[in-house]
Amino acid sequence: MRKPTNEPSPEKRQEDAPPEVRPDSDEPEPAAPSDGEIEFASIDNPDDEDRSADFELVEEAADAALVAEMLDEDDAKPEPPPEKKSEPEPAPPPPPPRQIVLLGAGHTHLQILKWWKSRPFPRTEMTLVTAFDRAASSGMLPSTLAGLYPPDQMLIDLPKLCEHCGVRLIVDRANRLDPRTRTIEFAHQPALQFDIASINIGSVPAAEPLWQSHRILISVKPLSTFLPRFEVRFRELVEQWRMAPGPENLQIVVVGAGAAGVELALCLEQHKHELELPADVRIVDGNPTVLSEFSPRTIRRVEKLLALRGIDLSLGSAVEDCDDESAGHLILQNGDRVRADLVIWAAGAAPPMALRGFDLPKTERGFLCARPTLQTTDDAPVFISGDTADFEAYSLPKSSVLAVRQAPVLWRNLRNYLADKPLHEYRPQTSFMRLLSCGDGTAIMDYKGYTSHSSWAWALKRWIDCRWVKQFQVR
Ligand SMILES: Cc1cc2nc3c(=O)[nH]c(=O)nc-3n(C[C@H](O)[C@H](O)[C@H](O)COP(=O)(O)OP(=O)(O)OC[C@H]3O[C@@H](n4cnc5c(N)ncnc54)[C@H](O)[C@@H]3O)c2cc1C
Repeated sequence: MRKPTNEPSPEKRQEDAPPEVRPDSDEPEPAAPSDGEIEFASIDNPDDEDRSADFELVEEAADAALVAEMLDEDDAKPEPPPEKKSEPEPAPPPPPPRQIVLLGAGHTHLQILKWWKSRPFPRTEMTLVTAFDRAASSGMLPSTLAGLYPPDQMLIDLPKLCEHCGVRLIVDRANRLDPRTRTIEFAHQPALQFDIASINIGSVPAAEPLWQSHRILISVKPLSTFLPRFEVRFRELVEQWRMAPGPENLQIVVVGAGAAGVELALCLEQHKHELELPADVRIVDGNPTVLSEFSPRTIRRVEKLLALRGIDLSLGSAVEDCDDESAGHLILQNGDRVRADLVIWAAGAAPPMALRGFDLPKTERGFLCARPTLQTTDDAPVFISGDTADFEAYSLPKSSVLAVRQAPVLWRNLRNYLADKPLHEYRPQTSFMRLLSCGDGTAIMDYKGYTSHSSWAWALKRWIDCRWVKQFQVR
C-alpha cells in the first residue's frame, strides 16, 4: 500500500498546470506507423463526430477555474476575524480526508488516475483497488499474440502509475460492497470504508462455470494474465505433439465469432504459421454469422478472409459442454462434437462473479444498473462505468471505446458529488470505428457502412492503441 500525496506544493501545482486531461495529448507522439504492421479493434476514433463534445468535456474538466468549484462552500469562505480573548482557543482538528475508492483498473479509471495527478480534489484521498498489478490494452492483445508487439508493450504497471499519480493502491479482489455501511470487503485485505466508490471491473466471457472447470479451455479474461496462461498450455501441447506427432493436425478452437474471437483466430493462425506448427484453427459460435454487429459488407469481407486463411467455422449452435478426456471435444447444443486440443474462450460478455456480493441494483443480465450520470440507480454514493454498467436509458455494446468516453463524465461527477452540485449526463456516441487486426500487417476497418482491409487500417489501429497505452506507462 502506498501513502497518498494529494496536496502538491504550490510550485508543483504550477509545474503541473495546465492539467492535461485531454486523453491523448500529453505524451510524445508515437512513431508514425510503418506500412506492413497490423492490429484490431479501435480504442478511440479520431474521426468520430461526437469526439469534439467529449474533448469539450475533458478540456472543461482541465480548466483551472473548475478547481475552485471543487471546493466546498466552507473552503471558499474567508476566515472570520479571531475574537479577542485572553486565552486563544486551540484550533479544531481538520476533518478527515474524504475517501474515493476506485474498484478495478478498467479503461475509465485509468483516465481518472491520470487526471488525479494534475488535479487532485482538496481534502480528498483516492485509492485504486485492482485484482492484478498490471492492466492490459485489449486492443493490442490479439496482435501481441501474433508477435506484432513485445508482450510488455500492451501492459500498464499499476504500482508505478499509482505512485506517479499520488493514489494509494490495493492489489486484491473486491468481493463485497455494502452501500449502507459504505464498506468494501476483499479476498485477503481488511475491509475499506469509502465516501464515494466507483466500479469499473469490466466483464468476463459468458458461461463462466464451463470455462472455469476444463483444463483445455482458456478464458481471454483476465486480459492481463491471458498471454502467460495461453503460452503455458500452448507450449505443453506443442511439446507433446513434437514428442509423439499424431496423424492429425492440432486442433485449436476459438469460441466466439464477435470482434474479439475473429481477431484472436486470425492472429492465432498467424502465430501457428510462424511456428510452422501443423495446427488447424476453427471458430465456434451459436450465432449463424460472424461479426453479427458489423455491416454486411464487412461480414462478407471477413468470411472471405477467414476462408483464405484456412480458418474453419462451426456456426449456429452454441457450446454446451466440454469433454477433455484424452482427445478433447466441445459438445454443441445440436449434439455435434468438435475436436479441440486447446480452446480460447472469447464468447459474449457476462457480469464478473464478484458483482453477486455487491448489494446494488442489477439488470436481468446481472450487470449493475446505472443512470446516465453513471450513478447507481439506488442513490448510493456509487458510480459505475465500462462493461460493468448497464444503462436503463440505452442499450450499448460492451466496448473499451465507450468505457474511455465515460471518463470525463465520471471525473466531473465525482467532483460534483463531493461538492453537492448537479451531476452531468453521459451521452453515448451513436457509432464508432472498429478496427480488427488480421495478425499479418493488415487490419479490417468498419465504420458507418464503409469497410476496408488494408495495411493503412492496421497503421491507424496501431497508432491509436499505442498512443492510448503509452499515456499510462510510467518509466
Ligand atoms: C481480445 C479482445 C480484444 C478487444 N478489443 C477491443 C477493441 O479493440 N476495442 C474495443 O472497444 N473493445 C475491445 N474489446 C472489448 C474490451 O476489452 C472491453 O469492452 C473493455 O476491456 C471493458 O473495459 P472496462 O473499463 O469495463 O474494464 P476492463 O478494462 O476489462 O478492466 C477491468 C479491471 O477490473 C479488474 N477487476 C476485475 N474484477 C475485480 C475485482 N473483483 N476486484 C478488483 N478488481 C477487479 C480487472 O483486473 C481489470 O483490471 C476487446 C475484448 C477482447 C477480449
